[in-house]
Amino acid sequence: MSENLHKHSGEGCKGACCLRVTDLGVSAEGRTILQGIDLHIHCGQIVALIGPNGAGKSTLFKAILGQQPHTGSIQFERSGGKRTRPLVGYVPQSPAFDQGEPVSVLDLFVAAISRWPVFLPIPKALRAKVEECLGRVHGEGLIDQRLGSLSGGELQRVLLALALEPLPHVLILDEPFSGVDVEGELRLLRLLDELRRTFDLSVLLSTHDFSNLGDYADKVVLMKETVLKVGTAQEVMDSPEFAQVFHLRLERG
Ligand code: ADP
Ligand code: MG
Repeated sequence: MSENLHKHSGEGCKGACCLRVTDLGVSAEGRTILQGIDLHIHCGQIVALIGPNGAGKSTLFKAILGQQPHTGSIQFERSGGKRTRPLVGYVPQSPAFDQGEPVSVLDLFVAAISRWPVFLPIPKALRAKVEECLGRVHGEGLIDQRLGSLSGGELQRVLLALALEPLPHVLILDEPFSGVDVEGELRLLRLLDELRRTFDLSVLLSTHDFSNLGDYADKVVLMKETVLKVGTAQEVMDSPEFAQVFHLRLERG
């Protein structure tokens, strides 16, 4: 899965679009949470953010989403060189809905993407728009299901479809594999691979599951308050920084 649309070599950005985080810092209540974060992600890339609990992964996501005061800059550069703030889609860790939750997937989308009052009959064109959104994640069949009746994987796909409307430059998923079985993880990875190719978006996700990082991540970023190591999955997992952060003893023959 490591091929990407722009066929970049090294860190060169010619003819590509990219997300660039420069010297980002966050402090709260007099404590430094993030400092000196530099990050560079090309369109079409899947980047995995790893680090122990409390490393600041979710805080970094909030900063990129514009929901967290920070120092430093976050910029999106279009292929022409124009710089803007990135349009970001965000998939939170799956919330749980009560089994009896009467709101349907259609209701949720109508409330999120339009101003149409949910208690009125939903116009055909709006339903078609929601079907189109769900189609991006192959979830058209879920449109009339109640949120409370969805499986964890189905709910995650619905939230993913929501994050893709409007189509973002960067798609962020916070720990999408936690509580997901191996099959579910592979299904989601196949879908993310398809989405980044179809829409040329960057995918930035956090995970504690390192077992198949090398199969899908174009780049792995190890962080704890700051970026400690960037590279391929192998490079990062073989590094002394990785061993230190996860308290592994280096036993090399
Ligand atoms: P991760 O997602 O890597 O587990 P977080 O970004 O959730 O880490 O948290 C990083 C650190 O920042 C933690 O020590 C957390 O307690 C702290 N933190 C997060 N948000 C706030 C806040 N609003 N005020 C104070 N401390 C915070
Ligand atoms: Mg977190």
